[in-house]
Parts: sequence; C-alpha cells; structure tokens
Amino acid sequence: MNKIKKLKAKPPACRDNSENSVHSVKKVRQLIPLLLDWFAANARDLPWRRTRDPYAIWVSEIMLQQTQVKTVIPFWNRWMHELPTIEAAAKAPSEKIHKLWEGLGYYTRVRNLQKAAQIIAEKHGGKFPENFDDVLALPGIGRYTAGAICGIAFNQPTPILDGNVIRVLTRIFGIAENPKEKKTNQLLWQLAEDLVKNSPLVTRHSSLSCSLLNQSLMELGALVCTPRNPQCLVCPVRKLCVAFKENRVEKLPNLGKRETATARRFIAFVIDQNGKFLVRQRPAGVVNAHLWEFPNVEVAAGQTDTKAVFKNVFGTIPPTVQPLCTVKHSITRYRITLEAFKVSLNKSPLTINGVWKTPAQMQQIAFTAAHKKLASAAVKSILSGR
Ligand code: SF4
Repeated sequence: MNKIKKLKAKPPACRDNSENSVHSVKKVRQLIPLLLDWFAANARDLPWRRTRDPYAIWVSEIMLQQTQVKTVIPFWNRWMHELPTIEAAAKAPSEKIHKLWEGLGYYTRVRNLQKAAQIIAEKHGGKFPENFDDVLALPGIGRYTAGAICGIAFNQPTPILDGNVIRVLTRIFGIAENPKEKKTNQLLWQLAEDLVKNSPLVTRHSSLSCSLLNQSLMELGALVCTPRNPQCLVCPVRKLCVAFKENRVEKLPNLGKRETATARRFIAFVIDQNGKFLVRQRPAGVVNAHLWEFPNVEVAAGQTDTKAVFKNVFGTIPPTVQPLCTVKHSITRYRITLEAFKVSLNKSPLTINGVWKTPAQMQQIAFTAAHKKLASAAVKSILSGR
C-alpha cells in the first residue's frame, strides 16, 4: 500500500510508457528488483564495499579505471593504510603517491587525485563534497566517477555509464547503434538514469537502493554479462534481455572497428658502474610523466647493432653490451617490445641526464611497469655475478 502511494506521489523519470520502446517504464521497473535481488545474493566482498567513506570509494573508483578489481585490491589496501584521509593524500610527497601507484599505470590519475584532494582540503574544509556539480568539478573526476561516488557513498540517484554498464544496457535493451555515437550515448545515460531514479520507488531495498542499483549494474557486467562468454543462463535479467531473446548477444555492444595495433621497438641500456645504475625521470607532459626508467631509445625493427645505438645515445662505444631481458607490453594501440642490454662501465663519464642509484635506492622510486621489470632483472644479474 505504501509503495503504491509513493508511486503516485512521485512520478518516475521515465518518459515513454509503450512496451515496445527501449524506454518502457514497465521494463525499467521490472529490471530493478531483479538486479537488486541478484546483487544482494552475489555481490563480491570488496574492501571498498565495506565502507561509505566517499574518500575510500573515490580512491577505488579512480584505481578501477583501466584496471581490474583483483589487481586493484592490494593497491587500494596499501593506499588507504598509508594515506587514510583526504588530508594525508593532499599533503603526501609526489614521490610517495607515485610509489603507491607504481604498477597501476595511467599516472595522471594519481596526480589528479592529489590535486583534487588539495582542492577539497582548501575549498571544502577537507570534507568530500556531496553536491554532484562540486564533485564533477574536481580534477580527474568525470561524469561516470562523480555519479559512482555520489551514488555509492551518498545514495544519490546519479547515473553511471562505463564499459560494463554500456555492455549490460545495450544487450538488455537490444541497442544496435554504436554507444560512442552522441545520440546512442545520450540514450544509454538516460536509461542508466531511469533505472537509478526509479529504484527507490519499486523496491524493498529502498534505504540504499540508488547505491545498490548502480553497483548491481557494474557487478552484472563484471561477473555475468562479460564481453566474451556471458553467463546468460544464470543471468537474473535474461527474460527481459532483447539480445538474449534475439540471439544477438555476441553482436552487442556494437563498438565499430577497432584501431589496428602498431608495433614499436625500444632498446634500453641498463648501465652499471661500481654497483650503481643509471636511471632517469620522465619529464612532465609525456606518457608516464615523473616515473623513472633506464635510458632507452626507439629503434627500427631491423636494427641489430646495439653498440651503434649506444653510441648514438651516449656518444661513446661501450666495451661490452650483453642482452639482459625483453619485456613486451601495450600502451593504448601500441604493442611495444622493450629489449634491455646490460652495459658495465668502470670509469667512462657519461654525458646524459640521469642519476646513479644503488639497488636499495631503486626500491624507493617509482618505475614504469616495464622498467620495473628491468630493474628486477638488473638487480638479479648483479646478485648472480653475471
Ligand atoms: Fe547479458 Fe546474457 Fe544477461 Fe542479456 S541475458 S544481460 S546478454 S548476460
């Protein structure tokens, strides 16, 4: 009875009542309890789900951009242990925040996080803002992240739309158009909004329904409605899913043609002199800015004369150049092969910007993921006397 009164008093956000429309109010309302019941029974116990602290949720959301949950967990635990408050994050030295982020990649995220923490400390008295526009105005926080924080931490009816949610919604509603197209993107945001705004009206989970509804969409995309081999037979919404009904699951979302990958090859020199290694810090404004690396240079695919490459970089021919290891990794559309060579020098002065660090000192600085592997290989080679 109470539920009926509520529905009458507060009209839902959906605008189209025809059952054939992707915007069907009826369908949106049918989906909500299915998603919430499934989430109540299946949600993973993640550390940031044990708190409503907006700072903790914000840190998790930034780390989860471009990175999988299982990778993020130890990073999040370490960060929250070392920097448990907004104030601590705002005041931490740059080297420390980079070190805590080392291995997560996309380091602009951590610099923006710190800038935002400093703004919150100065402008909001250290308290995470609750107003959506204030949250959205912070560096590194876009519409999705602002919606996720306001929804999860403050139970506000703010929609979220990331890759997982796009996949779930395009499949449930059978949307064949490319989600990157403006009109389709707007439609998806509207559907996400209709779901979260209607959630308090049609569910018994009302006290936290916006928070739980948003999380249920993310979780369904992560656990059941996965990019490949989605688990449709155990999916809580399969009876309402257009893609399942019409056998179009593999075709959605329609992301258009993928950019073709480009191969690039780099040679790095791991130079040691009296037990110290030459490393350098990447400048501001480039990929992996402020992170540390070994001197390296991009070379043509057929380049095999590593001594000549060394001479080009350092202006001198090294006595010996020994293969150390090869690391393959990807940055955006680039498939990178990084070949590392070990060079031992006794006295030759090198004319290159860089700093000599002992293995212990190298542990204290943040390397790019690929060069961290070179650092480990370099230290191992010293210990093994090779
Ligand atoms: Fe995704 Fe399959 Fe569920 Fe549809 S039925 S939402 S395609 S898992």
